[in-house]
Amino acid sequence: MEKKLSRRQFIKSMAAGAAGVTAFGLVDGLGLKASAEAEAIYTPGTYTASAKGLQSDVTVTMTFDETSIIDAVVDVSGETQGIGAAIGDQVVEQLLKGQTAEIDGVTGASMTSTAVRTAARECIDQAKGIVNEAVEAAAASGPLHSWEVKPDPIPDSEIVETVDTEILIIGGGYAGCATAARAAELGAQVILVEKSDTLHGNGVGGTGAVASKALDAFDLKLDKVDSQKRWVKTCGGRCRESLVAKFHNSSEEAMNWMIDIAAASGAQALISENHSNDPVHKEDRTYHMFVGGSVAEEYGLAVFAPHLFRLFAEEHGAQFIYNSPAEQLVQDETGAVTGAICKTEAGYVKYNASKGVVLATGDISFNEEMMEYFAPIGNKVLAKLNGALGDTGDGINMACWAGAAVQDGPWPTMMHPQAASYWHGPFLFVTPEGKRYMNEATWVQGKCIGLVTQAKSPYSFSIFDSKYPEYVLQSLPHGGGMFWDNFRFIGSTFEESVETTVNTIEQGVENDPKNYFKADTLEELAEKIGVPKDALLATVEHYNELCDKGEDTDFYKDQVFLTPVREGPFYATRVGAGLLAVVGGLHIDDNNQVCNANDEVIPGLFAVGNVSGDMYAVDYPINFMGNSHGRCLVGGYSVGTYLAGV
Ligand SMILES: Cc1cc2nc3c(=O)[nH]c(=O)nc-3n(C[C@H](O)[C@H](O)[C@H](O)COP(=O)(O)OP(=O)(O)OC[C@H]3O[C@@H](n4cnc5c(N)ncnc54)[C@H](O)[C@@H]3O)c2cc1C
Repeated sequence: MEKKLSRRQFIKSMAAGAAGVTAFGLVDGLGLKASAEAEAIYTPGTYTASAKGLQSDVTVTMTFDETSIIDAVVDVSGETQGIGAAIGDQVVEQLLKGQTAEIDGVTGASMTSTAVRTAARECIDQAKGIVNEAVEAAAASGPLHSWEVKPDPIPDSEIVETVDTEILIIGGGYAGCATAARAAELGAQVILVEKSDTLHGNGVGGTGAVASKALDAFDLKLDKVDSQKRWVKTCGGRCRESLVAKFHNSSEEAMNWMIDIAAASGAQALISENHSNDPVHKEDRTYHMFVGGSVAEEYGLAVFAPHLFRLFAEEHGAQFIYNSPAEQLVQDETGAVTGAICKTEAGYVKYNASKGVVLATGDISFNEEMMEYFAPIGNKVLAKLNGALGDTGDGINMACWAGAAVQDGPWPTMMHPQAASYWHGPFLFVTPEGKRYMNEATWVQGKCIGLVTQAKSPYSFSIFDSKYPEYVLQSLPHGGGMFWDNFRFIGSTFEESVETTVNTIEQGVENDPKNYFKADTLEELAEKIGVPKDALLATVEHYNELCDKGEDTDFYKDQVFLTPVREGPFYATRVGAGLLAVVGGLHIDDNNQVCNANDEVIPGLFAVGNVSGDMYAVDYPINFMGNSHGRCLVGGYSVGTYLAGV
């Protein structure tokens, strides 16, 4: 027992050597039970380990002789009185009788039992000299993360008010408001609590749907099979396909529901035409934008959906409460979530939710610790563009403290290159040092990831010459997509798009001199953008040679996009990577119920929108445009329906 084996090596060596196994009795899943005549397997002594229970750290201390567990002490005193805290004697008996950590546990105290099992396994590993790599790694990595350290419960003495409801929704963004609207419409009693003093939304609010009456009006039929396959491919096969399929299957009904609510406010769903025509980065026309009507007029496009749903929910009796950040979930003795506690100016308010609590707290953009751990690439951008500054991962923390698991990292990020100039196309990109670094004729995600990983800079410059209107027009049938082809509706033309681009660039040169540049010579342009003159001239000269040759032997950009930079005046736009959202989060099932690491649901707890995970991995699949809002809509619609019990 001198030599320390890793857990993996130990199990591997046992599996490989059948003779080794005969030295033992039964083989169980994690350890090997010693038979009476077995040779020594333990280093005699007393070992201790702890694991997180429902309310406290559960500690197990086990004493071994060479062949068996001879004593066990289990400290569950910090667990729920009368329930988890009462199981000590039963589990000790199971440990000693079974001579294994794999005890059945005690009904009604499943989280405490799981903690006993985990700690007992660790004691057995220690006695066997097996190094538990995960535990060692955790110890070596220093202090635990905020989501791993459950705070002390807020004491009853600090609760100034208790409110009963059926459904409590935490977070007033797109997803939370959609959930509130649907559940209230179906007659459920709904309260939505929002951390800040207002609802949140972003951009032009374009919402993706696979089919709808708005798409029918243009006879647009999406190929669901192709869409789902490309989604899964973009996500590196690491998303949960059943969730993606559910999204594809439910989005028509949810979108038609939204279209009807919007129509009542006088708004119409229009479909955008600015999809990419590139065969590799092909985008589908799924992007629904709502224009006109009282809500859009009063609140603007970014928060159109949240306010549309709020007004509809309020008409159906829902309550929206602001300046009420939820701080902790409330669980009963079985671990089921029964409510949450919010901080208000007057003190803590406890909400009891008889049907369920829905986390809709957005992403982790503004939690530095979570960003560094789960999505470090998102910290390398020029700007974080999420308008909800309260998106500090509170839902992740609260759920993890209640026993939830998160999806594997790194979490995917939604990025668009509009953090500096708004327009960007397929023209030459150079780093601030004047070096070309990628095939520029790619999609929005690709441009941003290329910037932060290959240019190793949050911004670069796109360089083009006075013939750019002609070149953009030539590029659009083969490329295009967001920003490159502007946000234009079906029925508009490429020529109109180029007009918009020319306006953006020429007005940018006038009004936004930090991001749009124009100069008579390349030397002057280099000076204006602060790029070393020689480097820029050399890069442009080489690029022009590739254009003349008609083959980009450096990055293999398609020939149609190889347009030279030759005829002044010359232009540069600053292309900046912006983080829109981190789209990874809590582990959920197909009903959006939050799960623990064993895929078991935590009763009473749901997650919608960006706080929920599993739907995306590796990268954000923009081939289905507007799908981030689309999944807020579908998640809200289906959870609202489910919880209302209809
Ligand atoms: C500039 C920009 C443009 C975009 N354009 C598009 C687009 O066109 N199409 C698309 O599909 N997606 C787009 N997105 C992404 C999309 O807007 C988001 O993914 C989506 O809005 C997330 O919605 P959500 O409801 O999950 O979270 P959020 O909208 O972030 O809402 C979360 C809410 O929870 C609140 N909250 C947080 N913690 C607590 C707490 N403890 N207690 C109570 N409340 C809490 C927050 O204050 C916030 O109001 C864009 C994003 C940006 C930044």
